[in-house]
Amino acid sequence: MRYEMVCGMETHVELATKTKIFCNCTTAFGGAPNTHCCPICTGQPGTLPLLNEKVVEYAIRAGLALHCTINEHCHMDRKNYVYPDLPKAYQISQFDEPVCEHGYIELDSGKRIGITRIHIEEDAGKLVHENGYTYIDYNRGGVPLIEIVSEPDISSPEEAREYAEKLQLTMRYVGVSDCKMQEGSMRCDVNVSLRPVGTTEFGTRTESKNINSLANIVKAINREIERQTDILDSGEQVLQATMRYDADTDEISIMRLKENSDDYRYFPEPDILRFIIPAEKIEEARRALPELPTAKLARYMEEYELPENNARQLYKYKKVTEFLEGTVAAGAGAKNTANLILRTIYSQMATEEDKENFEIPTTPAQMAELVKLIDEKKMNFNSAAEVLVKMLGSGESVSAYVKEEELAGVSNDDLAVWCREAVENNPKAVEDIKNGKDKAINVMFGYVMKMSKGKADIKVAEGIIRDIISKL
Ligand code: ADP
Ligand code: MG
Ligand code: ZN
Repeated sequence: MRYEMVCGMETHVELATKTKIFCNCTTAFGGAPNTHCCPICTGQPGTLPLLNEKVVEYAIRAGLALHCTINEHCHMDRKNYVYPDLPKAYQISQFDEPVCEHGYIELDSGKRIGITRIHIEEDAGKLVHENGYTYIDYNRGGVPLIEIVSEPDISSPEEAREYAEKLQLTMRYVGVSDCKMQEGSMRCDVNVSLRPVGTTEFGTRTESKNINSLANIVKAINREIERQTDILDSGEQVLQATMRYDADTDEISIMRLKENSDDYRYFPEPDILRFIIPAEKIEEARRALPELPTAKLARYMEEYELPENNARQLYKYKKVTEFLEGTVAAGAGAKNTANLILRTIYSQMATEEDKENFEIPTTPAQMAELVKLIDEKKMNFNSAAEVLVKMLGSGESVSAYVKEEELAGVSNDDLAVWCREAVENNPKAVEDIKNGKDKAINVMFGYVMKMSKGKADIKVAEGIIRDIISKL
């Protein structure tokens, strides 16, 4: 039988607040085990949690960026479960009154993947398995998270990947998280079920937890589709289960049969008061939102006149957008800036992570100085690219590599003389052009470029040369 996939994703994003959700401990990643902890985030009896206002602010910002409505009335709930990473034996989360609801992410195809809800909660500690022992590090316990739950609107592994990537980019744009999947600041749980093509009722789903890269989202879903297809084809039933995807072996296996939300015995958290998010606070956050990815991409194509594939390679990295826009703001043309970034800077950056971090010594102001030389035809693109490589190596400005007089550019008088010489020195080429072999003009371009040390504007030279030839 042929099946179609139904998929919904739950994405945990660690918020970039300085302190944890209910205490003043740092949220810094790493650190010696159990040094970023206090009695509150290790759940000692007699302590009381105090909700970090910034966490609510960040959740609002994330929700607005994903077109959600923000609930003015909220409260926290206890989600009970027993596991050593959670010393209180309950996680403080939100159940029936999350901060945000009813949003969406729009894919390139125009299809919208609904966002059911975004709620705030605390992260758990981390179990470290070593030398046959299990150790517990509570540094991560109490780090604030938002969990973004999608509708089951995703219908292919590629859509799942695109959804996660757009989500990641949007969270980075609004500055609520660095969303580094390899460091765990963004983790995806993928729910997958199959149903016969043409039917509408959902099949039983499984949930693959904590997938840690975009590529693995696609792989895990593919493995799960294969597994469920085999089960259904052999006439058996898929069991609702939590799955583990092993990226090393590219295999998926059942970790445990799935608990339902009933099993968590959710109830309102008695230690934290209900809270109200005033409408004016929401409007203030809405006004403060930066330009979002879709709008930026469109602007790069329209205002900066970049081809779509170039615009896409630039808008994907927040620091690159800041560098590009900073350079343009300093007076450089967007096209030449973009081309230098794509051809010269990116060629020094091997991985996605390198581009994401975009660590270069050159400032937008220094970059603008260089790009303006191309814009003003004082230097050709390739020479500028060579200078840029040196600037990237040293952090110095253009002036360290290019002397004033070299930047004088080409005077119209000189250009006219060289063009005339080019024509006079190449009677054979002139003949060829007159006989329709237009390519022969390249010989003359070569001469002009040589005489001008690459600085001549070839379009202008062409006009002059054709004018001379036409009058011969
Ligand atoms: P729970 O809270 O028990 O994890 P939810 O109903 O909130 O369950 O759903 C969790 C995620 O699973 C959501 O992203 C949702 O879109 C997705 N989902 C629900 N039912 C299915 C299904 N039959 N197939 C695929 N995904 C599903
Ligand atoms: Mg769930
Ligand atoms: Zn603490």
